Amino acid sequence: MKTEYIVLNTEAPDEEVIRRAGRIIREGGLVAFPTETVYGLGGDALNPESSRKIYAAKGRPSDNPLIVHVCRWKDVAPIVRSVPGEAEELARAFWPGPLTMILKKNDSVPPETTGGLDTVAIRFPDNRIAQALIDASGGYIAAPSANRSGRPSPTLARYCLEDLDGRVEMILDGGQVGIGIESTIVDLTEKRPVILRPGYITREMLEAVLGEVEVDSALIDPDSGVAPKAPGMKYRHYAPRGELVIFEGERDIVVEGINRAAASQMAAGKKTGVICTDETKLLYEADSVKSTGSRGDDESAARELFRILREFDDEGVERIYSESFDEGPLGQAIMNRLMKAAGHKVISPGN
Ligand code: AMP
Ligand code: MG
Repeated sequence: MKTEYIVLNTEAPDEEVIRRAGRIIREGGLVAFPTETVYGLGGDALNPESSRKIYAAKGRPSDNPLIVHVCRWKDVAPIVRSVPGEAEELARAFWPGPLTMILKKNDSVPPETTGGLDTVAIRFPDNRIAQALIDASGGYIAAPSANRSGRPSPTLARYCLEDLDGRVEMILDGGQVGIGIESTIVDLTEKRPVILRPGYITREMLEAVLGEVEVDSALIDPDSGVAPKAPGMKYRHYAPRGELVIFEGERDIVVEGINRAAASQMAAGKKTGVICTDETKLLYEADSVKSTGSRGDDESAARELFRILREFDDEGVERIYSESFDEGPLGQAIMNRLMKAAGHKVISPGN
């Protein structure tokens, strides 16, 4: 299959291109497109064949459900059994935006889209290209992140091309995404709302709307042996090709620890990379040193993280050392991705 790559203006996407992309999806094909979180790999959510194609293109296990993207609040009701009041309150507060809600599905959503579950994940993305494409496609696009399974989620369209060239009909390039990590997922099918995946919308933000919100216990202690409720969270994810280790602790001790580890790897002929912040960038000695922005700017860290992991891949970096990013409102979401990318390898040199 030949993949068509088209650059669009996010504020005013070319209508003819959107119409053509919408037709591809309505006819059962696949289009990668930007959202405000990461790029998505879209197909018709109500067509089981399209969902099968998404799994094949991504190389993703088919028990890992897809998120259904809508472009209007009123399009939620037709695909679910009932709309809880909490869903409406959350939509009013956060949609369009980086929040995915899990609701009980009805028969219009095929089991192929939900990995066989009787629930469905729904999100209304805050991106004009995404919204126009969803509308032109019939209102329901199933889309996981537009990377090959296991690789870092794409925050730029060229990474979609790198992973999916020849596997999708079209890639829409809307520039670098704004947020950079995937949506918060909240399950509304239990007695209390539960966060299944941390993201830009924090627990505090959800609690300001709903009152008490729980966090899936598998997220709090990944070593607990408890299976995560979002099936996708159990897979190795976001992994760069090089081996990644996170260093945590007091700043100077972390810098010293990373420099020592990098020096020994370089002496052994390995190419090394460091993920750090503007404040520490000049203190490191490694082959490639990349800053996520100023320490404390967690929005910048979220936006840059996956791009940096991909750049290290492009540069052939074999050993990656990262500072920790656990402070700030997005700390939990960033560390969730970074820990998965590192396969939970963490060193606390001070302890
Ligand atoms: P991605 O498409 O890469 O953003 O991943 C989608 C995430 O949503 C995966 O971690 C899925 O496990 C999760 N998800 C999708 N649908 C459901 C559902 N019905 N119940 C629980 N988690 C879901
Ligand atoms: Mg993904």
